[in-house]
Amino acid sequence: MKIVCIGRNYAAHVRELNNAMPDEPVIFIKPDSAVLRNNAPFFIPEFTQDVHHEIEVVVKIKKNGKSIPVQFAADYYDEITVGIDFTARDLQSKLKEKGLPWEKAKGFDHSAVIGKFIPKAGLNIHQLDFHLTKNGDVVQQGNTEMMMHSVDEVIAHVSQYFMLKTGDLIFTGTPEGVGPVAFGDELKGFLGDTQLFRCAVR
Ligand code: ZN
Repeated sequence: MKIVCIGRNYAAHVRELNNAMPDEPVIFIKPDSAVLRNNAPFFIPEFTQDVHHEIEVVVKIKKNGKSIPVQFAADYYDEITVGIDFTARDLQSKLKEKGLPWEKAKGFDHSAVIGKFIPKAGLNIHQLDFHLTKNGDVVQQGNTEMMMHSVDEVIAHVSQYFMLKTGDLIFTGTPEGVGPVAFGDELKGFLGDTQLFRCAVR
């Protein structure tokens, strides 16, 4: 199983990090060892002083596909959730400065929090509210209609390069409001009003 992540998919978040606006989806991959499920706590790794939360809508691929046409992309996922793409921002900035890959800053152990999956049936994937609370305060809020590349466009694009397989996960990008987490924080992720994960930071 692999985790494919999309960077810079919400314009306001691209601006808050002073990144260039991409003309096609920015893609990176986390290994399966990045997964953190079942409301398990997150332990801040020793190699970073600045871990940021990035809440994202996550889709689970239900069948294998390569070079999936955008009009058929919706047939490739039935379940969605929200998750966190934990990012060692200090390390990422150093790697970006040197033009190096981001893996160490993005793909480290337990950097991919996955919420409880729910059926997409009855939901409009292209107009979904989601938000993250930290210690009870809303810190990030987004709607999938603000994506520069829709979920279906992302699946079509990604599958040109990486064959998607049953069980693969796609993190579809984060809206603005990313910020640091600290020991003792409690994070909760919501799709609409439904809480799909909580994560204690240790
Ligand atoms: Zn992200």
